[in-house]
Amino acid sequence: MEKSKRIALVAHDNRKKDLVEWVEFNYKTLLGHQLICTGTTGKLIEETILNKLEPKEEMMVPIIMLKSGPLGGDLQMGALIAEGNIDLLIFFWDPMQPQPHDVDVKALLRITVVYNIPTACNRSTADFMISSHLLKEKYEPNLVDYSVYISRQIP
Ligand code: PGA
Repeated sequence: MEKSKRIALVAHDNRKKDLVEWVEFNYKTLLGHQLICTGTTGKLIEETILNKLEPKEEMMVPIIMLKSGPLGGDLQMGALIAEGNIDLLIFFWDPMQPQPHDVDVKALLRITVVYNIPTACNRSTADFMISSHLLKEKYEPNLVDYSVYISRQIP
């Protein structure tokens, strides 16, 4: 990971308010990084950050907007992780309401473990993550070698 990180942000509908508040509080730090968001979350975050900037200011690095979560956005995010294009994930998922794309949510959370991606699913973890000195430094995550599982499955 380089000094500037590729940070993915997603929130389910009932958790979007929480994420927007967190972004409002941390927008200055976030502006130094590339943000990648699922569709609806991304629009809200863009709006939130633009409201914080001076009227003529623009975001230096535009947010990368993926599809909305239920339309495949979580899977796109998972694919970016598998290809090494995301460094951190902030994912405020809803623990109280089933989602039409629950299987995609599970896939996204699983792939973060496979690729050792720091993942925050609540505000406290996101607070610790954004205030970590590692956010401003180069960092090489240790990858687990899972090849032993794969070779076992081949007869
Ligand atoms: P959304 O998707 O940002 O388009 O709402 C988030 C999700 O449901 O995973």
